[in-house]
Amino acid sequence: MSNTDFALAVEDLTVAFDGFKAIDTLTLYVDKNELRVIIGPNGAGKTTLLDLICGKTKASAGSIKFKNTELTGMAEHKRVRLGIGRKFQTPSIYENLSVFQNLEVSYPSGRSVFGALAFQCTDRIKAAVQAVAEDIFLADKLHTEAGLLSHGQKQWLEIGMLLMQEPELLMLDEPIAGMSSRERELTAELLKRISNNRAVIVIEHDMDFVAQIAHKVTVMHQGKILAEGPMDKVQADPKVIDVYLGH
Ligand code: ADP
Ligand code: MG
Repeated sequence: MSNTDFALAVEDLTVAFDGFKAIDTLTLYVDKNELRVIIGPNGAGKTTLLDLICGKTKASAGSIKFKNTELTGMAEHKRVRLGIGRKFQTPSIYENLSVFQNLEVSYPSGRSVFGALAFQCTDRIKAAVQAVAEDIFLADKLHTEAGLLSHGQKQWLEIGMLLMQEPELLMLDEPIAGMSSRERELTAELLKRISNNRAVIVIEHDMDFVAQIAHKVTVMHQGKILAEGPMDKVQADPKVIDVYLGH
């Protein structure tokens, strides 16, 4: 298979912090329209891997290709423009703005024909905001101040802000932390839906949630891949039970 068949091809990726290899010659391929879940004990390097893919952290060695374009060495904002969206663990939304305004400011102005004069196509932006608000279960909260939303709703809003940019690869770090069980159910539904037309990488600890959403599971340990495959196979793997699931 050539690299062009993958949304993401990570090969021999390594990053060392003062000699400590947080990611160690890691190779990982994610298909287009795949929902991949990454699990593993604390300190395994999961967040660091996302940092390397989005450009927050620079790789020491190895390659990261997105749609066959080399990302290592490319600035973070350029990766965003290529179609990579990253959600961090704590939601970063504008608490004083409404849900509508939060989504509106996330509309990529560079993509509009009018560029800086994006205000001329407000109907198109409004339609995009409406569609995303429905996706993230906040269509009836458009004029609510974001600061007044529940923690789970804030997480959805941040996902919505990323969806406004129509990313082709969306990465989420522990998106259901602090959510109610109903919010978790809805989030599983949302993630499955948004992976219909893009690749999604989710880091998650809650194994019931992982089982609900994952196409394939990657288990990381000490900066390397310990196991990879369908959920049932990974769960039955003695190495995985030993370093992670058994605890
Ligand atoms: P996980 O998300 O799997 O819990 P992390 O990727 O956050 O793990 O961390 C992996 C390891 O790399 C940890 O030992 C952490 O302390 C270390 N690490 C992460 N980022 C840095 C950094 N910027 N500088 C030094 N060490 C780091
Ligand atoms: Mg982490």
